Amino acid sequence: MRWISRLAMGALCISLAACTSSPTGRQQLTLYSDEQLNQMGQQAFNQYQQELPAVGGATHRYAECVASALVAELPQQQRAQNWQIRVFEDDSANAFALPGGYMGINTGLLDIATNQDQLAAVIGHEISHVLANHANERVSTQSATQLGLSVLQSTAGIQNEQMLGLLGAGAQYGILLPFSRRHESEADILGLNLMADAGFDPRASLTLWENMSAASNGQPPVWMSTHPSHGQRIDDLQAGMNEALARYEQASSAGKRPNCSRPG
Ligand SMILES: [Zn+2]
Repeated sequence: MRWISRLAMGALCISLAACTSSPTGRQQLTLYSDEQLNQMGQQAFNQYQQELPAVGGATHRYAECVASALVAELPQQQRAQNWQIRVFEDDSANAFALPGGYMGINTGLLDIATNQDQLAAVIGHEISHVLANHANERVSTQSATQLGLSVLQSTAGIQNEQMLGLLGAGAQYGILLPFSRRHESEADILGLNLMADAGFDPRASLTLWENMSAASNGQPPVWMSTHPSHGQRIDDLQAGMNEALARYEQASSAGKRPNCSRPG
């Protein structure tokens, strides 16, 4: 299935001239403009704000302190976005960052990420999804998959409906799923380096995942269940740890030591 998706993507890249490179040099299909994506981000953020009450005061200052230390390390063009973070009053452990710089973190996640370094691991990972245009790639891939299927449908005729249903399922699992696993690995590595550059201890990313696992007897934390393949993630983080530690030491000796006080 994977070679088919590569082939299809290659054809789309040539015919639509809609390919970009991710920060790790991976070729990606991006059919939508930044403006379109930022608009989608804003809409989703507005909806979130309508549904959940925001928390202010020391809790908000804490999240903002961590987020702004991370944003300060972004490449100039991305730093210039209007980054903002809200803390939402909700027990489910979740966090997100959206195109346009909209970030959110639920109070339930602050119970699992127990210090500034662990919180930086969560936010750094989420910011990295934005940096690497993952939302654009995901939406583009979905659109392209639907486009491909509708072309097939019109060629094959209605009597092959059942076969096309199977093809549709194949496209879902064969094309979309590997992409999102790749996105996770990419966000893990980029996020690890980002937190280290900002002077947060990258080893906290491993502790965070231990905390996530420990909290998951019963219902797994939302953030964990939307971030599958736990074992693979630990492997990725460990593989990137030497470089991240070197960057962390460099940041520390350059005087970068965030001191975000966690409200008690
Ligand atoms: Zn993720």
